[in-house]
Amino acid sequence: MAKNYSSLTEIKGGLQSGGVTVEKLVKHYLQNIKANAHLNAFIEVFEDEALQQALVIDAKIKEGTGGKLAGMVIGIKDNICYKDHQVSASSKILDGFTSIYSSTIVERLLAEDAIIIGRCNCDEFAMGASNESSYFGPVKNFADHTKVSGGSSGGSAVAVQADLCHAAIGTDTGGSVRQPASFCGLIGLKPTYGRISRYGIIAYASSFDQVGPITKSVEDAALLLEVMAGEDEYDSTLSRKTVPEFSAEMPEPGKKKIAYLQESLSSPGVDAEVKNALSLTIEKLRANGHTVKPITFEYLDYMVPTYYILAMAEASSNLSRYDGVHYGYRSPKATDLQSTYKLSRSEGFGKEVKRRIMLGTFVLSAGYYDAYYAKAQKTRRLIREKTLDILKEYDFILTPTAPEPAYNIGVEKTDPVVSYLADIFTVQASLTGLPAISLPVGNNHEGLPLGIQLLAGQFEELELLNFSKYFVKL
Ligand code: GLN
Repeated sequence: MAKNYSSLTEIKGGLQSGGVTVEKLVKHYLQNIKANAHLNAFIEVFEDEALQQALVIDAKIKEGTGGKLAGMVIGIKDNICYKDHQVSASSKILDGFTSIYSSTIVERLLAEDAIIIGRCNCDEFAMGASNESSYFGPVKNFADHTKVSGGSSGGSAVAVQADLCHAAIGTDTGGSVRQPASFCGLIGLKPTYGRISRYGIIAYASSFDQVGPITKSVEDAALLLEVMAGEDEYDSTLSRKTVPEFSAEMPEPGKKKIAYLQESLSSPGVDAEVKNALSLTIEKLRANGHTVKPITFEYLDYMVPTYYILAMAEASSNLSRYDGVHYGYRSPKATDLQSTYKLSRSEGFGKEVKRRIMLGTFVLSAGYYDAYYAKAQKTRRLIREKTLDILKEYDFILTPTAPEPAYNIGVEKTDPVVSYLADIFTVQASLTGLPAISLPVGNNHEGLPLGIQLLAGQFEELELLNFSKYFVKL
């Protein structure tokens, strides 16, 4: 029973043969969660509820009425609203807050009989790349407990890595599904902006935020995307395109044209083993008949600054709603309206969140708006146009997911810009709204997972997933 299933298909096989029940599965995960509490992957476990639900799903499976996700036990990032359950975005300012409605994705996952076993730790308001800005403390990487999980969906990634649940849902604004997936040896997909509803997701930077699955198999990522995607009257940025059957069997993809970013191999900022993993990937693809060519991207140096100016500007606006009146934490020292705002926000937000609110407010302020915010919007457009130009000629853009593997927890970072720069490879898909996936490519000499990223054209998840399925078997 204590088998670490690699896909829902495998679980379904066990369920059909009668050796496994959903109840047994849930008990197995609950046991693993307890045994691995030190990883800090879950902020809250919905134990009784998951066990009750397991019985319902077992009955449905017996009757043959189980949904597409019957047998799938998942964790959700703590910025995804689930009616009558707490949600905090891993922030003190929302500690104790209970959702009064469910996000569209939670409703869709439940409608297909997924079981939500708990809410996963993350960086505060999804701001970060190591899960260290969480009010609830960092998440430990299961491959090495002294290393970070990656972030911001670090709890979601480690929950899957350590088999505390079968799959997890994260959000990706600038890399937060892909980078922790890469640090934990998993698959992380950020769909096209407008593919999955953001209704009921606690906003960080609304023009970037997308929900994405973190899984052990590409098949599961495809299935979860299929269930979560599609039109929603509560999110006007969603595409009306019909959602392809991402989980359907597809013929093996033909020969592809793939561009890789030359700087991923030449830049001194990229770890030697990461470069090596990328070189091996390139060789393997070529050996299998695909065309893989180096490209340079003339706006490479502008990607991280553009992303951070815009994400912080949007965050400063989105986070103005936390005022000590409407939601969550209110300072006990407050005496009037002004002090309620000031003290609740000063005490409720952590350092990184405050830094971003201040910088975001600065770049939006009257005297600097044109120099920073408006300029970054223009740069974003240029980056998108240039990326789309490349994708006219190539099917995918290949890079490492992150410049280095998981690093030590608690390394004192005096300069936050150094951390921001590590998002160099993931922010391109976020700035352009394009889909991208992180795929595992083995471990480094210390046993730490490494990942590569493939970026595809707008709404081309079907091609991206199909190629990924093929790639992981190469
Ligand atoms: N590391 C990036 C940031 O801090 C991305 C975070 C995310 O995707 N939520 O903004």
